[in-house]
Amino acid sequence: MNIQTLHASTKDVGGIPVARLLPQGRRRTIGAWCFLDHAGPAQFAADAPGLQVGAHPHTNLQTFTWMLEGEVWHQDSLGFRQLIRPKQVNLMTAGTGSRRGIAHTEQTPEGIHSLHAVQLWIALPMNQEIEPDFQHYPELPEWQEDGVRYVLTTGSFQGRTAPTQQYSPLVGVDVQADTAQSLSLALEAGWEYGVLVIAGSVNAADGTRAAADELLFFEGSADRLTLEVAAGSHFMLLGGEPLPHPTVIWWNFVADSRAALHEAVADWNSGSPRFGAEIDLSGTGLKRLVAPEPPQGLRD
Ligand code: MN
Repeated sequence: MNIQTLHASTKDVGGIPVARLLPQGRRRTIGAWCFLDHAGPAQFAADAPGLQVGAHPHTNLQTFTWMLEGEVWHQDSLGFRQLIRPKQVNLMTAGTGSRRGIAHTEQTPEGIHSLHAVQLWIALPMNQEIEPDFQHYPELPEWQEDGVRYVLTTGSFQGRTAPTQQYSPLVGVDVQADTAQSLSLALEAGWEYGVLVIAGSVNAADGTRAAADELLFFEGSADRLTLEVAAGSHFMLLGGEPLPHPTVIWWNFVADSRAALHEAVADWNSGSPRFGAEIDLSGTGLKRLVAPEPPQGLRD
């Protein structure tokens, strides 16, 4: 198995440090996981607004929010309004094809002054007809073993299964080790895997190391993954079966061609009913975002 350490591109989103691990360079996906941001941990000043993301659309993907600290309001064009708290997952499904999409806002509630979350996108299999949807998972399988704390956010792992809906086989496991540990994790044949380090550091068996905001990326197959984990480490194991088709990403859209991305941009900017009902932004202070045109050189 070939193992690489990927570094994040970092940016500041409204005072929140965000580390983006995927996509980058030749590394586009881990199974259907196609976008990976680690946001925070951030503490806001008493008068700072926190996360304030206006109405924006998505296509051919699911947004998967894994909350670690703080709270965020979700509101979408299907009419769902949901507060997400730590140890919960929000899963929003945009649906597939050129006639489906969804829009949403994300906003820190008044009185909340922190944010720490992992925000992922899952590319949908575009050879399936999938309707837009939203799900909130307030309780997920959680257990301890040899001083290591696990939360299963999606999929099946070591005999447990999360309730989280999937359209292609995936796994996402949150792992925290208070003391230094050697972990042996079972892997599925033919899947792709990565380890996002949230805090501390993780060493692969060949000595490849990743620290906070770095991603261990595994290429090739193995039955098990051995990780040497430093005391106080926190990471997320992500894996999945590769999608049967390539995906292109632009702005908040996933598609199977550049033409489909252009169509999504035009549809959103012209107020197409493809994206559901207009979200009521009155009293939120939020705006409807404008989709930028894809650049000429966008890669397929
Ligand atoms: Mn979004």
